[in-house]
Amino acid sequence: MNTIVWKVDKYVDNLERNPQVVDAARFLRENEVVAIPTETVYGLGGNAESDEAVEKIYMAKGRPGDNPLIIHIAEKEQLNRFVAEIPAKAQILMDKFWPGPLTIIFKLKEGILSEKATAGLATVGVRMPAHPVALALLKTCGLPIAAPSANSSGKPSPTKADHVIDDLNGKIAGVLDGGSTGVGVESTVLDCTEEIPVILRPGGVTKEQLEDVIGKVVIDRALVDESAKPKAPGMKYRHYAPNAEMYLVSGSREFLQQLVVEKRREGLQVGVLTTKEYQYDYKADVVLACGERADLESVAAALYDTLRRFNQLNVDVIFSEMFPGSGVGEAIMNRLQKAAGHKVITEK
Ligand code: AMP
Ligand code: MG
Repeated sequence: MNTIVWKVDKYVDNLERNPQVVDAARFLRENEVVAIPTETVYGLGGNAESDEAVEKIYMAKGRPGDNPLIIHIAEKEQLNRFVAEIPAKAQILMDKFWPGPLTIIFKLKEGILSEKATAGLATVGVRMPAHPVALALLKTCGLPIAAPSANSSGKPSPTKADHVIDDLNGKIAGVLDGGSTGVGVESTVLDCTEEIPVILRPGGVTKEQLEDVIGKVVIDRALVDESAKPKAPGMKYRHYAPNAEMYLVSGSREFLQQLVVEKRREGLQVGVLTTKEYQYDYKADVVLACGERADLESVAAALYDTLRRFNQLNVDVIFSEMFPGSGVGEAIMNRLQKAAGHKVITEK
């Protein structure tokens, strides 16, 4: 299959009439799959009401069939078609955070969406992306669009159209290239089917921001306790992993440098993941600055691109600094822990 790359300027008015967007929408209506820029990461979109389209998403990504897809909409009214009820807290959150990086889990109204999209669950995760190209496409095609991240399953999520092409060229109908995404980590997944909402995956909207509008929110125990079964099926899979063996280092920069020296003595190519503040403090084969520590949002935005750059630079081992676990740091640390397979080296 020839994968079309449609360049789209996200700052142009009237994107709904942009020929590239109209083209991509036609592919979606024909049950083909198309990669779409959103404010979090690129998504791989397909008609959520079509088994055929949804199967193509799972196939292209190599995604396990028990991992449900997030459904994307452009208007809140679209929810009534496939959601059984909208709890009061969910309504407040939608009004406050949509469009934006918040996925809300609702009880499913059966018989509308492809059962493959929801992996046969009685619930469904929905969000409205805050990206002009994604919103224009959703409005133009008029369908609920199932869209997981547009990477091969297990790899770091794509934050540029080039990342999508690296993983999925020839496997999907096209990619709308709207430049780099903004937030850089995926949406927060919040289960609103319970009286006290539960964060199943930390992401672009923080726990503090949620609690400011609806009061108490809890975090799925599985996010802190490795032996507990996660409520979001996707959270149990290895994810975001670079090709190299990766370790998180809890300790001083001197300690991290010492680990680098030891590995280099073994003849390995060693990479360090740090931030702009400290990039010249290390001596290693590759030192990459992932944003600025003083601005954790910049770290989130650069994270997946940094992990993918290590792949291109062919390092064998990566030592990564750690980040504070509050605010967007919670999502950053969740992704880094998974990328490293939870391997942490602590200075004694
Ligand atoms: P991705 O689209 O690759 O960013 O992953 C979506 C995440 O949302 C995965 O971890 C899914 O398991 C989770 N998810 C989607 N729908 C549901 C649902 N109905 N209940 C719980 N988790 C869900
Ligand atoms: Mg994903």
